[in-house]
Amino acid sequence: MEIQGKTVIVTGAARGIGRGIAEAFARDGASVVLADLGAVAGERAGPWNYKLATLGDLATTAVDIREQGGTCLALEVDVSDRASCQSLVKQSLEAFGGIDVLVNNAGVIQSGPLVDFAESDWDRIFAVNVKGIFLLSQAALPHMQANGGLIINIASVAGKQGFPDMGAYCASKFAAISLTQSMAAELAEFDIRVNAICPGNVDTSMWFDHLSKSERQQRLYGTDTVEDTFRAVVGATIPLGREQSPADMAEAALYLARADNVTGIALTVAGGIVMN
Ligand code: NAD
Repeated sequence: MEIQGKTVIVTGAARGIGRGIAEAFARDGASVVLADLGAVAGERAGPWNYKLATLGDLATTAVDIREQGGTCLALEVDVSDRASCQSLVKQSLEAFGGIDVLVNNAGVIQSGPLVDFAESDWDRIFAVNVKGIFLLSQAALPHMQANGGLIINIASVAGKQGFPDMGAYCASKFAAISLTQSMAAELAEFDIRVNAICPGNVDTSMWFDHLSKSERQQRLYGTDTVEDTFRAVVGATIPLGREQSPADMAEAALYLARADNVTGIALTVAGGIVMN
């Protein structure tokens, strides 16, 4: 696929990996819809165990991309809500006339021992990480089936291997990969390719505001700052010995956009944490 002139929706684009992917597509000449929780959707998503992106984060990302010469539109969405997903697709089509690439990147985490893991946290993780992919893809499909395109689901190394205290998150990411494969098989006849990216350890809020503070990471690696704890985990667990970045994930997304014969894969970008 030639990226120049295409329309790309990226969820969870206000910050972190989503922002990195959105910036890369904009740099290569795509019109990008930056979709993330805003004020209303944020309230509807309920209290979370770490801060999700604000409307201000979303606006800042849009300003930065425009200052770099990119074309983008910032829209609020809660991917766990059907009406919100349908509204996002409608507004995207009105603004840019098409949807060529959908990047289902929005995701949440909660970790801790299963013995007292809250059922509400389990449900919320699945509502965003799994049902969110289903709802937004379903909303976009009537348009995409008529024109072909690409869907990229951001899964995780936690979708390829189980990790302690991460049962709900791992299960949701395994589900994201199996959903990717089913979608790829089902949508091939419409010339829609569907792939996943499996990041390793990326220095985003998910790590600094949640995982680095978790009881297990503190016990195993705890240092004075969450950044140092993150780096200690990276040093101990990643064979290449270095963390991954949003730019690494953007590179993988651009590759998948250009790789016209690649569908149904879950591309691991993780310095060797898992090797499949
Ligand atoms: P992040 O918390 O910085 O970004 C997640 C984004 O998703 C936030 O902007 C948040 O507001 C948004 N979001 C959450 N719930 C939403 C909802 N209901 N509707 C719309 N947007 C919503 O974390 P990140 O590390 O950039 O995570 C991006 C993706 O990468 C996630 O799917 C995550 O599971 C995955 N991932 C991250 C890592 C890592 O090491 N950081 C590793 C593997 C996979």
